[in-house]
Amino acid sequence: MLEIKMPVIPGNKPNIVGKIDYSVGDKVDKDQVIFSVETAKGNRQIKSKEAGIIKEILVEEGNEVKANEVLVIVEEIGSEEETIKQENNIPEKKVLEVEINEKEISKDLLVIGAGPGGYVAAIYAAKRGLDVALIEKNSLGGTCLNVGCIPTKSLVQTADYFEALKSMNKFGIELNSGFEIDMKKVQARKNEVVSTLVSGIDFLLKKNNIQLISGNAEFVDNETVKVNETIIKAKNIVIATGSVPATLNVKGGDLPGVMDSTDALSLEEIPDSLTIIGGGVIGLEFAFIYNSFGSRVKLIEYQNYLLPMFDMEVAEEIRMIAEERGIQVLTSSKVQEISETVEGDLIVSFEKDGKMLSTVSNKILMATGRKANTEGLGLENTSMNVNEKSGNILVNEFKQTNVEHIYAIGDVSSNLKLAHLASHEGMVAVDHILGEKRELSEKNIPSVVYTNPELAIVGYSEEELKEKNIEYKSSRFDFVANGKALTMNQNRGFVKVLADKNGKLLGCSIIGPDASSLISSLTIALANNISVEELTHTVFAHPTTAEVIHEACLDFIGRGVHQ
Ligand code: FAD
Repeated sequence: MLEIKMPVIPGNKPNIVGKIDYSVGDKVDKDQVIFSVETAKGNRQIKSKEAGIIKEILVEEGNEVKANEVLVIVEEIGSEEETIKQENNIPEKKVLEVEINEKEISKDLLVIGAGPGGYVAAIYAAKRGLDVALIEKNSLGGTCLNVGCIPTKSLVQTADYFEALKSMNKFGIELNSGFEIDMKKVQARKNEVVSTLVSGIDFLLKKNNIQLISGNAEFVDNETVKVNETIIKAKNIVIATGSVPATLNVKGGDLPGVMDSTDALSLEEIPDSLTIIGGGVIGLEFAFIYNSFGSRVKLIEYQNYLLPMFDMEVAEEIRMIAEERGIQVLTSSKVQEISETVEGDLIVSFEKDGKMLSTVSNKILMATGRKANTEGLGLENTSMNVNEKSGNILVNEFKQTNVEHIYAIGDVSSNLKLAHLASHEGMVAVDHILGEKRELSEKNIPSVVYTNPELAIVGYSEEELKEKNIEYKSSRFDFVANGKALTMNQNRGFVKVLADKNGKLLGCSIIGPDASSLISSLTIALANNISVEELTHTVFAHPTTAEVIHEACLDFIGRGVHQ
């Protein structure tokens, strides 16, 4: 017999037994988590050291347990008693195979899709006491972890280090032996970062007793969801099925060499030339990555400026920087067709200013946006309303659909397709399920573009304020006068603050070093009604890039010191 004891955990907090899903007679595998105990050092999993049958559970949920106390007794498989039982053909209970064998599952909450919307909603709900199941048909982490935010930022980091190396002599560092990109290693590192994060989610789901079911979820009706042969009924359902690339429907769009963002993340060779169709966030990030790696990059955008959702002054600045770095930017250009040369290169034909033009490159990246992913979800078997144009599932401010117990969060329901928004919407939905009404204003959601330098915005852009006839004043401070930026050799860009005449913040834009981090302090100010004047009374550490925020706010009230 194997005695499983409470380990010694330093700290004064009592050790409290969590939810126990197993009973006496159940079979457990080696290293199987039987339950968790909340301790001073977080949740500690109580595992069986060997495969066996649970003979006794000596504690109950909510009990306080002391160090070295025996919690569970397991009879190891292969022990004398077990052999006798097997010889007598005593049937075993198969609770561990619940995911595949259980025909009908009933839960407080069912979450469909394990991207940053779904997995966060599932964990948050479990922490708040709900019994949760999560269905995922691919890999944990969804688009963001597997083919979105994280892998792109891994490539961005390589590109940024590579760029920094090119200017090392400015810092007094001579790199005599040269340096180059090894794409196989770049890919291996990217994959390692992704798999570390994916296994982290797996751990968190187990720790929080969330039942993970793999397979495609399909609604049978408003109350029932089917995965393979398993039927799941839940008091509430959160749909978090994300988005898929929205490809341009042009002739030749399916030729080999025409990539979407997922393909562009996995290239093992740097293309000599790359044409990117779409000058939005994803297109621009890839333009800077492959430009750094040495590709000749052309960016074709249908609108007459890049990043249509951003403040135009910031979008114009990044266009200028992109062009200085050798990225050819073609705006107001409508792609008509893609064809192939005899050598296998790709020709993009597009219309600009009434003329037909074309460009030839080794590869093409279609970065023309993303659309809600509802394929195979069986929405036609429900009475849920969908926006016919965008395909988004329609929701109210609490992310609730027209079917009261079904919610839709993240890319599948939002126009703004961002990972942090998806996660927050998940929490808003779970709070609403539990009777708490928490609204989330899209105007307080920051957006970042990981170009070099980075761009970040929160709130209104100047163009939006003009369009809405909202009165505003603006102020700006440039990184060129910031000491820290100069030490970093990254003095391009500025911060721009928009506020009403009383100093109530309306919107902020940053282009420059650390923009992705700096936007957080302005987001806190905007979301909590901290005025421009109050920001001027806040002390920012020196020397930091954050001092540009202080200076822009000082300038807003006519007291700018450094300009
Ligand atoms: P997803 O992450 O798409 O997850 C949905 C999950 O549902 C998927 O795992 C899918 O397999 C699963 N699923 C779908 N249908 C079913 C079904 N019927 N049954 C079971 N499972 C199903 N956002 C940022 O905030 N910052 C960034 O830097 C950033 N960079 C990006 C870079 C790229 C190249 C791309 C493509 C996107 C990027 N995004 C970024 C956007 C971000 O990835 C998404 O906004 C985010 O992943 C949305 O989360 P979600 O949970 O709504 O959906």
